[in-house]
Amino acid sequence: MKDRHLLSGPEPDPARDAGHPEPPERVGFFTDTSVCIGCKACEVACKEWNAIPEDGMPLSGMSYDNTQGLGASTWRHVAFIEQKLPAPEGRTELSLIEGTPTAPEPPQAPGDMRWLMSSDVCKHCTHAACLDVCPTGSLFRTEFGTVVVQEDICNGCGYCVPACPYGVIEQRQHDGRAFKCTMCYDRLGAGQEPACAKACPTESIQFGPLDELRERAALRVEQLHEQGVEQAHLYGHDPNDGVGGDGAFFLLLDKPEVYGLPPDPVVATRDLAAMWKHAGTAALSLAGSIALAFVLAGRTKEGR
Ligand code: SF4
Ligand code: SF4
Ligand code: SF4
Repeated sequence: MKDRHLLSGPEPDPARDAGHPEPPERVGFFTDTSVCIGCKACEVACKEWNAIPEDGMPLSGMSYDNTQGLGASTWRHVAFIEQKLPAPEGRTELSLIEGTPTAPEPPQAPGDMRWLMSSDVCKHCTHAACLDVCPTGSLFRTEFGTVVVQEDICNGCGYCVPACPYGVIEQRQHDGRAFKCTMCYDRLGAGQEPACAKACPTESIQFGPLDELRERAALRVEQLHEQGVEQAHLYGHDPNDGVGGDGAFFLLLDKPEVYGLPPDPVVATRDLAAMWKHAGTAALSLAGSIALAFVLAGRTKEGR
């Protein structure tokens, strides 16, 4: 069995490990992209609740996606991915509620299009590299197991930006401080669900205790497979992955790369223990060699 340590691997209670003596259940997001309609209510609710400044309305010319990615002023991003579909598994065929008849199958030929929509967010990683490298304590683990950045403590060093394996956290231009989703820490403290989940009309964004969400997600994947949507799979749910599992995980209908997600994210601290072990072995060997050199030198002197 692998050694368990606090830097990588499964971690049943990150809040307790962070020093919260009696934390409540860890909460998170299960985002079921198969029912996202791309309305962007989540993006708007996030902006409104958190008073996030506007970040322009650039259009890439490639898609209707005008926010284009997560950033310092975009804490929720609804990705719009247009795909040519050779197979007939378009999202219009999926029944949202079990037992409800699906829409009639539209005629589809090779070359037809489908939309993949997915509302992306900070993953609130079990092992959060952003937090591990933050020298000021601006990033911290809350009692709910989430990862929050405090703008009044951030000194703008930017260490967290390259540390995040998902490219989520970003420094704001002309300001330098880092910003990202807080999983609405203020709302959680008041017993409310995050603004984005509350606003989502299709329940694509589901909020709740993480263990419960993982069970619900597994059932949903099973249901989709039974309906013939074989590509449906979960991303970020597995505590054995490179970040110890995400606090915000997803049901995807294609490879993670298609949604702009890394296929195998790894926390930067995963190999730290092994690195220190190797450095320790190297230091011991060096010390041994130096000691041996002194002993041999002493003997040579005595022999003269
Ligand atoms: S996704 Fe990035 S910013 Fe969010 S908790 Fe993980 S390491 Fe930090
Ligand atoms: S949880 Fe709150 S801060 Fe995070 S994306 Fe949703 S609305 Fe924004
Ligand atoms: S509010 Fe829900 S359905 Fe609308 S874009 Fe966001 S996740 Fe998709």
